[in-house]
Amino acid sequence: GNLMIEHNDDAFQQLQSVAKEKFVEEFGIDPFWMVSAPSRVNLIGEHIDYCDGFVLPLAINRHIVIAAAPNGTSQANMVSTLFPGEPAVVMVDEDPVMGEPRWANYIRGVLDGFRLKDLWPLPGFDAVVHSNIPLGAGLSSSAAIEVALATLVEGLLGIEINPKNKALLCQRAEQKFAGVPCGIMDQFVSVFAQPDHVVLIDCRSQQAQPIPLADTSVAVIIADTKIQHELSDGSYANRRKQTEIALMILGKDSWREVSMADLEEAKGEMSEVVFQRARHVITEIERTQKAAMAIARGKMDEVGGLMRASHLSLRDDFEVSCRELDIMVEGAWHIGEAGGVLGSRMTGAGFGGSTVTLARAEQAESVMEAMSRNYKQETGIEPHIFSTKAVGGAELSDLL
Ligand code: ADP
Ligand code: MG
Repeated sequence: GNLMIEHNDDAFQQLQSVAKEKFVEEFGIDPFWMVSAPSRVNLIGEHIDYCDGFVLPLAINRHIVIAAAPNGTSQANMVSTLFPGEPAVVMVDEDPVMGEPRWANYIRGVLDGFRLKDLWPLPGFDAVVHSNIPLGAGLSSSAAIEVALATLVEGLLGIEINPKNKALLCQRAEQKFAGVPCGIMDQFVSVFAQPDHVVLIDCRSQQAQPIPLADTSVAVIIADTKIQHELSDGSYANRRKQTEIALMILGKDSWREVSMADLEEAKGEMSEVVFQRARHVITEIERTQKAAMAIARGKMDEVGGLMRASHLSLRDDFEVSCRELDIMVEGAWHIGEAGGVLGSRMTGAGFGGSTVTLARAEQAESVMEAMSRNYKQETGIEPHIFSTKAVGGAELSDLL
């Protein structure tokens, strides 16, 4: 159905066994390694990654897994269950270059990162990539595949690189080999996540700090509106530009040095729209830090209030929500605490995509049903809604 609750780790076990079976079928031997890397959802801290702000994502129980073994050649032979009939062969003793199949560019990008570290040439290997990350829901499968591959290469070489450098290597792969000017969130959370933790990432210092969920009785509900408005009309670039203009008018080097008092003082020097954009940035930076502290203290009602304020700020000041996101979020708000909802907001760049909702675990099922019913009634669209929890980061296991 379109509602799914993950009660335990069955989905993850299942994912690994399929990857293993597929490997045996494809290469005729048992795999030596199994690696996994999670996808993520951002709880709060939206549109401030490019403003020296914070993000507060958690890794979710949807992964890329790779089953692999060394093959004694100078080739990486890779297949993905997502792209049957499009196997990839990448030389591990030549400079990686972009090419076909396109899914392997993420692989080539990561390999190129190891080449730049002089960890080159690599031993050849065979690998099967398998995933249960929903496509097009903005959960960052691309970062997961990069981090999974980097983790595999660590296993191949019998080394562990510094986790921050590993995440940055993966970010570079996405930027240079997929042409996506991404920030650091997705790769950092896939590397640094811990079970029952969120990850506070400081986008200025590029430091990641796992924050324990003091209250682990919460479910994280992700609701895909199935709406994807075009971002190519320049809305994203336009928001970035407006925040740059605001900072210039404020005469500061970083948003971290700007207070609401500073903004009020400079109000007469900027347009109403630029003022609103700036207010979002300043208040969202503050909300994200507060949310991290509230999570560590188990104050989930406080987190919920911050998520609500974040959504309103994104809707009214930053203007990146849309009708469908508002309907989904308001549906959750309407269920309220009595019905088990702690907080809800849009997540991701906006203009469609998904919402994130915190709910009491024992009421997650009824929350999802009510959210789905409301959304369908208001929009006529069948959403995809599932419940998950905060899982750990990338792992390598030796199957021998
Ligand atoms: P997302 O929001 O999921 O990161 P992207 O467009 O950034 O969306 O990345 C999706 C791309 O990542 C796919 O088109 C494919 O190239 C690659 N990818 C994701 N999952 C897999 C997989 N299981 N096997 C191979 N490639 C994958
Ligand atoms: Mg991506």
